[in-house]
Amino acid sequence: MRNIYLDNQATTQCDPRVLEVMLPYFCEIYGNPSSDHDFGYQANAALEKAREQTAQIIGAQAKDILFASGATAAVNTAIIGCARFYGKKRNHIITSAIEHKCVLESCKALQEEGFEVSYLKPTIDGIIEPGAVERLISDKTLLASVMAVNNEIGTIQPIREIGNICRSHGVIFHTDAAQAIGKIDIDVEKDNISMLTLSGHKIYAPKGVGAIYISSSPKIKLRPLIFGGGQERQLFPGTTSVPLCVGLGRACELMHTEMHEVNDNISRIKSRFFDYITKNIEQVYLNGHKDKRVPHNLNMSFAGVEGESLMMAMPEVAVSSGSACTSDTLEPSYVLKAMGISEDLIHTAIRFGFGRFTTEDEAMYVAQKIAESVKKLRSMSPIYKRSSAIV
Ligand SMILES: *Cc1c(COP(=O)(O)O)cnc(C)c1O
Repeated sequence: MRNIYLDNQATTQCDPRVLEVMLPYFCEIYGNPSSDHDFGYQANAALEKAREQTAQIIGAQAKDILFASGATAAVNTAIIGCARFYGKKRNHIITSAIEHKCVLESCKALQEEGFEVSYLKPTIDGIIEPGAVERLISDKTLLASVMAVNNEIGTIQPIREIGNICRSHGVIFHTDAAQAIGKIDIDVEKDNISMLTLSGHKIYAPKGVGAIYISSSPKIKLRPLIFGGGQERQLFPGTTSVPLCVGLGRACELMHTEMHEVNDNISRIKSRFFDYITKNIEQVYLNGHKDKRVPHNLNMSFAGVEGESLMMAMPEVAVSSGSACTSDTLEPSYVLKAMGISEDLIHTAIRFGFGRFTTEDEAMYVAQKIAESVKKLRSMSPIYKRSSAIV
């Protein structure tokens, strides 16, 4: 039986070319990069090369990049570290209701410390409007955190405009770019970004590594959340994992050099997939903006068909459903909910995540399987017949 992976927003396969450059750093060049001898120097040189590669994909300088154990750790340090450093003067934070849990939970933790947080609602197609950010800014506003690309609906946010507004009001701007790196052009200077966080395992590097860009001019200061040695400017202390960072660096380099080629290929596959689905199934709704989205994601609701049932009807296909995207609960997606999608349609949403290794053949197999399964499940559903009779 086939086994097809269309869940590349949850995680990606490690690219063999990434693994290959990591391997020598396990059993051969295994020194501690802080050590004052040749093993240490070699490890440190590899770490600095990886820092340079990571910086390049976002137009940053290597010295402004720090390695972390993932985007979650980086985001916590960005948001909470910033709030605790500057919080005495300004205690207001702006974010959106459709951020990743690591942003939302960091903000929630800060509310318990007395910070005030505004959660912006997106438009029905999942966009956070720059004007809405601007209207919330007051002289108490310290930080705005808006993601570059949403993980559930693939929508591209207007981060350059938001960054520009923040800069002109003296507000620090953080963007969670875990789903954007190597898929859209990002330049920390042009986009007016003060802090940017990214994750290895969303870009074909292993899990357990991420990075943060922290602007040095204007200089942003953060209070550490964990304590230990002086590694990564004391913000991410503990012995740095050289193999993982080397993998992240190589992954960034590959995303950078292959971006256009891979995006074109994924766009073509996604369009064929989308055309097949919309021609062969009625009452299908695309969630998220129809143009302002990365080609790697399609989030669609199939009226009358529970996402979980559809997934069970095609066990050989790995996708995510609108009810199970977040954590292990069966809560309906808070992202789709914040957009104002009806509860019924949220429960019928499926996220298709195309990636570097997705073939057209795989995508079309899934499209056909979806069309067959939706027809079958609808024919067995008294609810669907009733609702379509009303419509
Ligand atoms: C995956 C993801 C994260 C978390 O990254 P980890 O490296 O798994 O901690 C944060 N934000 C977004 C948008 C993500 O997709």
